[in-house]
Amino acid sequence: MVSARMASIHESTTLKISAMAKKLTASGLDIIDMGVGEPDFNTPKHIVEAGCNSIKMGETHYAPTAGIPELRQAVAEKLCDENLLEVTADDVVITPGAKMAVFAAIQALMQEGDKCAFIGPSWVSYEPCVAFAGGSVVWGKVDKQFMPVDLAESINSKTKLVLVNSPSNPTGAVFDRRVLEEIRDLACDHDLFVIADEIYEKIIYDHEHISIGSLPGMEDRTVTINGFSKAYAMTGWRLGYLTGPRETMKWVTRLLSHSVSQATTFVQRAGVAALRGPQDDVAAMVAEFRSRRDLLVSGLRRLGIPCNMPGGAFYVFPDVAQLGGGDAFTERLLKEALIAATPGSAFGPGGVDYVRFSYATSQDRIREALERIERMLEGYKKA
Ligand code: PMP
Ligand code: GLU
Repeated sequence: MVSARMASIHESTTLKISAMAKKLTASGLDIIDMGVGEPDFNTPKHIVEAGCNSIKMGETHYAPTAGIPELRQAVAEKLCDENLLEVTADDVVITPGAKMAVFAAIQALMQEGDKCAFIGPSWVSYEPCVAFAGGSVVWGKVDKQFMPVDLAESINSKTKLVLVNSPSNPTGAVFDRRVLEEIRDLACDHDLFVIADEIYEKIIYDHEHISIGSLPGMEDRTVTINGFSKAYAMTGWRLGYLTGPRETMKWVTRLLSHSVSQATTFVQRAGVAALRGPQDDVAAMVAEFRSRRDLLVSGLRRLGIPCNMPGGAFYVFPDVAQLGGGDAFTERLLKEALIAATPGSAFGPGGVDYVRFSYATSQDRIREALERIERMLEGYKKA
């Protein structure tokens, strides 16, 4: 027995592929896992120590639903200083992972029958969150650089929300000020809310990250989401946060209070250390991601696979239409080259010609993956 609401929700392709890659590795196969988007670095030591000290000090009890005051304060200061959002600690809600922030914000903002506009291929969990709220998605068109094209066409009287994810998972695209201002103008003209998922803001190359919530006119219509998984290599700790209009945050908090209660108390202490401590580890990880991106993009292009140079995140999203499309290519990659990747179709109808490679793996493994792809393509030519 399953409710109709749940029956429309499909499994997360990214997590499914991750589990499959782990299983194949455990069976003795030399799988190169470029499927899941999870930094392969360890959480920086000072952050781990803060979490451990907190447990040792006995901070193992319930905390306030919206988060411990110290973390809410640290997040508010970060959002003011770095993102130019005018918020106080009272406007910040801490969640167990940014995924929960996305889920809660969408449940708080969407009614049955509402529409949410996505801009091109979009992360796997957004659509199920919208479906769970009883809404549906309109997929906005993008150009070859994954920039929005005629976004106004995706908006009608039912549209409530626009989802902005820059830098983007899966495309790595970064929206500049002009693009964000266009989205802002549309949101203001049509009285829409924007959910800005900024979880990859620190993993950005030669671009400036701009928070759409900081643009004039957006203060009361933006929910900004972020987390610790990507920038601080803290995926398993489950820590994220969001900020937005007080009324929205009130309902988000109420949802948390009846579901997860709060983010883990000692994990929040680790979050304070992440934000207030040295940021050198972040810079080092981003430098390494940049080298990997350059290696992978140039390698794929050398093999004749068209591929944009992503401005952020740790994914490349090459066009494999000439190689049978994303689904068939991903299947062959796994079977013939023992490389796990994610088919672009997992990110919506605009992704069918593409495959997503996560380069959260070492340069040696990326080189090996490129060699395996080259051998596989030679097989294509012969076939
Ligand atoms: N948003 C995007 C775009 C992501 O790629 C992820 C990664 N899982 C998340 C949100 C959620 O991250 P987490 O729940 O680990 O904080
Ligand atoms: N966001 C990552 C990805 O896209 C992690 C897996 C997930 O939570 O979906 O691969």
